Amino acid sequence: MNCEIICVGTELLLGDIVNTNSVYLSKELAKLGINVLYQSVVGDNDSRLEECIRKSLEKSDIIILTGGLGPTADDITKEVCCKALGFELEINEKQLRKIENYFCSKNIEMPESNKKQAYLPKSGYVLENNNGTAPGFAIEKNSKCIISLPGPPREMKPMFENGAKPILEKYSSAVLVSHNVRMIGIGEAKMAEDAGKLLDGENPTVAPYAKDGECLLRVTAKAKDKNTAEKMCSKILDEIYKKFSEYIYGIDIDGIEYAVVEKLKEKKLKVAFAESCTGGLCAKRITDVPGASQVFDCGVVSYANSIKNKLLNVREEDLEKYGAVSETVAKQMAKGVLELSGADIGVSITGIAGPDNDGSEKPVGLSYIAVAYKDEVVCTEFMTARKDRDYNRFANSSKAFDAVRKIIDKF
Ligand code: ATP
Ligand code: MG
Repeated sequence: MNCEIICVGTELLLGDIVNTNSVYLSKELAKLGINVLYQSVVGDNDSRLEECIRKSLEKSDIIILTGGLGPTADDITKEVCCKALGFELEINEKQLRKIENYFCSKNIEMPESNKKQAYLPKSGYVLENNNGTAPGFAIEKNSKCIISLPGPPREMKPMFENGAKPILEKYSSAVLVSHNVRMIGIGEAKMAEDAGKLLDGENPTVAPYAKDGECLLRVTAKAKDKNTAEKMCSKILDEIYKKFSEYIYGIDIDGIEYAVVEKLKEKKLKVAFAESCTGGLCAKRITDVPGASQVFDCGVVSYANSIKNKLLNVREEDLEKYGAVSETVAKQMAKGVLELSGADIGVSITGIAGPDNDGSEKPVGLSYIAVAYKDEVVCTEFMTARKDRDYNRFANSSKAFDAVRKIIDKF
């Protein structure tokens, strides 16, 4: 079964909002074994939306629309869908009560325009919206299936999960299961080379990807049911684990900071950061993880040399002699923040994020990451060879987390 996703909204065409709905739906449909062959974005315009739906009906078996189910005049998805399919809209009393109750529970008088949302295609399934006022719908006609979901992701996702998915499951002959094995410390080319024949498999497939400062192998199996697909993946995952154990920080995890927080919690350890070129990014990333307060003590953004000296006890003469971006300074920063915070692990990052260098001989992309723990301090030099400031800062923060991940094993 082939599917097209149509996201409706002039805001999307203007670049005012990012089309995260299509990202979410594509991933979910892939898991259901439904091939998404086309994605379209169309503005809030009757004739262009109608043309888009008509064309899509010729190419695809399943059409999933998001957006344009609201109460205002520019919300036209339902009306245009019905016109293209030859269906009529009628008031759905149950949905009208639900919308009225929604406003009542908030102690607000229902605007007359919201009544429009209770009009739904005469024959079709209503998809309940428990997070907003706009119900969605699904219509099956001539072995085609058209599903319309609201635009706001917080309404769209639960409606897809609880309403649309059970309908779509019967269109899928296979299930896809994917797992992402995430690694730091190895480049994409080397990873692909070492993966060797694993990359030639047809089911499961193993695909290499590069992300900022890290890379991943995605293992995907297609089978008649989820259990079988999981078993097929797990064999390959074992092989990958054997080959890449030193680089892997997690499977299906949101980022290295999540792996680090988990490991710190297990060992009941705390970390503190002394950041220069990353400007607080490590502190930001670790506090993105719920429960970070159990493992994160403090972050010092010691950007100026005077602060490196005042707060972290970095010796002035070393700053002068070796420069802020040096192994000597990185080590003193890590020790300094360890003493300042009383954490178990102190980490420092000092580097040249770019796009230009700091006026010295040192190249853009060079950084030193030091970790102080117990009575030890270790430091590693990194070189991203890129002049991209955002990339360098993010990659350096990931490297710092990876350094912590490795040190935790020493406790
Ligand atoms: P509403 O009742 O809020 O008007 P709606 O179903 O009519 O809902 P839209 O008017 O198209 O949906 O979009 C409402 C909001 O939902 C947008 O302003 C945007 O924040 C979000 N949104 C819409 N489409 C998308 C999309 N494709 N990806 C991410 N967010 C989206
Ligand atoms: Mg709207």
